[in-house]
Amino acid sequence: MPVLFVGHGSPMNAIEDNVWSQALRKLGSSLAVPTAILAVSAHWTTRGLRVTSQEHPSTIHDFGGFPQQLFDMNYPAPGSNDLAQRVVKALSGEQAVAVEEWGLDHGTWSVLVHLFPDPVIPVVQLSIDLGRSHSAQIDLGRKLASLRDEGVLILASGNVTHNLAHAMRAMATGDLRTPLWASQFDAATGKALEQRDDQQLIALADLPEGRMSHPSFDHWIPLLVAYGATGPEDKLSFPVEGFDLGSLSMRSVRWG
Ligand code: ZN
Repeated sequence: MPVLFVGHGSPMNAIEDNVWSQALRKLGSSLAVPTAILAVSAHWTTRGLRVTSQEHPSTIHDFGGFPQQLFDMNYPAPGSNDLAQRVVKALSGEQAVAVEEWGLDHGTWSVLVHLFPDPVIPVVQLSIDLGRSHSAQIDLGRKLASLRDEGVLILASGNVTHNLAHAMRAMATGDLRTPLWASQFDAATGKALEQRDDQQLIALADLPEGRMSHPSFDHWIPLLVAYGATGPEDKLSFPVEGFDLGSLSMRSVRWG
């Protein structure tokens, strides 16, 4: 199976017919149907690693100030205790724990409604442990790579640049020009991925444009985990590129 990193952007993309949702629908229709999906969303941050194992994960509306239509959205995909246990096993030594908590947050379901509109494929979420180094996040992905051979789609969801304060200000003022730090960071990320240069990728976040792009790293880490699950034999492509709300990179990455 390929590995995907999807830029999810605003929750509104779940219900709007726009360039981002159309691109995800196109991407979804190009994929073979996976046996299951392992989602790594920016919106489930924990100390230590958690894996959802309930057979019926709930749709979590983890946002505020959006229209009722968004809160009415439901993505009732089944879970999979079997996959959760395999993820825990693949992550041996990392002290990952299968839990019957959380569910599918909007980082996961707001993209799945477009990638796989019919919610029949089992979905398991793996949390993000902010306490690990960025290099250790890539190592986690390496441990998960074998799941791809079992037909599991690894779906990471975040954003290559994610400075929410800047995006809010852009919305309020109407100044939707993309700042240089965002375009530079986004381009440098694309280049580091093309060159498969781990050190270059990790070092990006410490640059001034990296700090601007990620005041916190929750939307960056899913990319590192996804990257770790891939190798030089995987064909790299960027099915979605561009910026929303000025500074928010919507770049999506496909390996394989
Ligand atoms: Zn988000």
